[in-house]
Amino acid sequence: MNREDGFTSRKPAVFLDRDGVLTREKGYVGRWEDMEIFPYAKDCVSQIQSKGYYAIVVTNQSGVARGYFTEIALLSMNQFLKEETGVDAIYYCPHCRQGIVPEYAVSCNCRKPATGMMEKACREYDIDITHSYMVGDRACDILMGKNAGLRTVLLESGYGLEKLEEKVQPDYIFEDLQEFAAFLPQQRKA
Ligand SMILES: [Zn+2]
Repeated sequence: MNREDGFTSRKPAVFLDRDGVLTREKGYVGRWEDMEIFPYAKDCVSQIQSKGYYAIVVTNQSGVARGYFTEIALLSMNQFLKEETGVDAIYYCPHCRQGIVPEYAVSCNCRKPATGMMEKACREYDIDITHSYMVGDRACDILMGKNAGLRTVLLESGYGLEKLEEKVQPDYIFEDLQEFAAFLPQQRKA
């Protein structure tokens, strides 16, 4: 977004997966009461923001398509996550071709490793992609980051490296979001 004085507000983003990154990986969580947000999540998000980045969640939530929980329930989880961590935005994909809820059992361009959620974020925020990162705990996160030309970060705090669905080569591997937030280079004063 260009202001009238020509000053640009463009800044990079840290795209964050939800489960295993901000919250404990517990399979399909369907109620906000059951989400277990890591105690350090809020502090890490504010470090990311104060280093000059947007903190934007991009999460596959195929539990909606599979009929495990509704999109309304997912929206309450998003609201809770936003309040508890201070992230700038949350994008989600409720789809899955193998789902049972017809409305959501479709192919889409947003289910990671596709890049639809990130593209949507880029339309709504003025993001400097070349200095942005994708942080996740699963192969699809790393593949999505690579598909979008981001630097990729794999965390060990979620699914676990030994359970990766396929071999991926992230640019960085850290134990958890705290280690990543400490590593993240300062962009400029936020
Ligand atoms: Zn989708």
